[in-house]
Amino acid sequence: MNCRNCSLPSTLPSARIDKSGLCIYCREFKGKEDLDRKRKEYESRFQQLLDACKATHNQSPYDILAAYSGGKDSTFTLDLLKNRYSLRVLAITFDHGFVSPYAFENIRRVVEKLGIDHITFKPDFKTLQKIFRFSIENEFHPPKALERASSICNSCMGLVKFITLKIAIEKEIPFIAYGWSPGQAPLQSAILKNHLSFIKKSQNLFLQPLEQGVGSEVRTYFLDEHHLNQSKNANFPYNINPLAFLQYNEEKIYQRIQELGWEPPKDTDPNSTNCLLNSFANQVHIRKHHFHPYSLEMAELVREGVLGREDVLCRLLEPGNPQIIQDVKVKLGL
Ligand SMILES: [Zn+2]
Repeated sequence: MNCRNCSLPSTLPSARIDKSGLCIYCREFKGKEDLDRKRKEYESRFQQLLDACKATHNQSPYDILAAYSGGKDSTFTLDLLKNRYSLRVLAITFDHGFVSPYAFENIRRVVEKLGIDHITFKPDFKTLQKIFRFSIENEFHPPKALERASSICNSCMGLVKFITLKIAIEKEIPFIAYGWSPGQAPLQSAILKNHLSFIKKSQNLFLQPLEQGVGSEVRTYFLDEHHLNQSKNANFPYNINPLAFLQYNEEKIYQRIQELGWEPPKDTDPNSTNCLLNSFANQVHIRKHHFHPYSLEMAELVREGVLGREDVLCRLLEPGNPQIIQDVKVKLGL
């Protein structure tokens, strides 16, 4: 059974669909107007933070470090940072070994067109392989996180989060940008100041099981005492999620990024525009949890009127490309 309004399946533990057929998220949804008002508040808060940062004459050559997957949302975010906010952007791509070759082409064209410095970080694939295999066999992420993304995705995003934070601290970059859609990240997480206690807690939660299951080599990708001690609380960067507080319109996003030379990849599933691992990660998740890991994100976009309910139900039923899934399994040694 699915929520009659937003399409959320009853198999998602927090959905709690009532007798009238509505999920808890739809029952608690205060409407688009309320959301837009709150978004405006976040938007002006971000502007205030930028102004305050300018006033202190930031010594770093960059204002913002943008996590750039090459997908449609992070491409659009990059454009906003550069052209709407006129920021000095450093883009970073995390290569987990399964980035679509089309995405790499897009990345090259877009950063060249935007005139942005760009780095790629690619961890040793043997370690990544162990991390992904461990994530399939042991679901150590919090249940709430597993409602939003598959175990593999959570591990990958966790690595991105800490590697990006580490580089931002090392380069003294005051802001980190992510291109999560409003469905992927709730509005409350649109602007987030990193605090020592918060970083330590979230790093331990992720690093401890990973280190036990995979080995001490994973420590390379996390903050060490040096990062934690060197940076006083005041100097930890902010995480910014511009798409959570700016207007999100898929059609306009596609239109704009195509002007930047971005082309739709021919090899990814309908829920990703950069990652070849995604279909397999979804398949594993659905078998274990009986709901699609994109359900919550898509349902939020339906509630906000970005996508249609039927369109989402179709998208979530579409199976991944069997050949790509097979290639992924081989590459992971499964
Ligand atoms: Zn609903």
